Amino acid sequence: MVRKIMESIPEEMLQEDLEKLRQRAIELGATDAKIITTDMVVIDERVRMKCIYPKCQWFGTNRHCPPYAMDLDQARKLSSSYRYALFIRQVEPTDTLAGERSPEQMKEYQRKTKMQLDILRSIEADAFYSGYYLAIGFGAGPCKRFFCPTEECTALKPGQGCRYPLYARSSMEAQGMDVYKMATRVGWDIYPLGSSHSEAPHGNRLSLMFIY
Ligand code: SF4
Repeated sequence: MVRKIMESIPEEMLQEDLEKLRQRAIELGATDAKIITTDMVVIDERVRMKCIYPKCQWFGTNRHCPPYAMDLDQARKLSSSYRYALFIRQVEPTDTLAGERSPEQMKEYQRKTKMQLDILRSIEADAFYSGYYLAIGFGAGPCKRFFCPTEECTALKPGQGCRYPLYARSSMEAQGMDVYKMATRVGWDIYPLGSSHSEAPHGNRLSLMFIY
């Protein structure tokens, strides 16, 4: 259903809509989702530094990663111009997210990445057509790894856009968001994962949508 645009959304309606979007994320496969106020969003220069030092292989390869991602002052301004965001969690087996992965585990990783992007795309569209036309989502990891691993990023070429504008979103970490700290703030268990350490009890795949 498309709702007429209102200059300001009444508080009661806003709270109902936020809850509906939260429920929708869970229906679409999220393990949990929480409505947060944007003062819970943590943006830290040290997160951005982790893209550069040691340099990530995706740095500078696509429009959504640094140095093309928003600078952190822009990201802070963006965050503080919204009141509410939806923070979305998918809990996953550690071995699909970290350590040496078999082809089957990589397939599962791809499937879960697609699920995350489907959740973001659907919630963003639901919010848009409900009158929250400035809703904007952020996922995890570089879009290039999933969508365009062997092709140049068209979004970096003048006169061309992203090949996957409805799906590809920048990651939270590319905007300097301290995703670990934010997860602990809302009470979700989270562990450091990496190529050589995959013994945590579970992994988390997190995304965020600014709504209003
Ligand atoms: S999905 Fe592809 S074209 Fe779009 S921004 Fe990412 S790398 Fe560029």
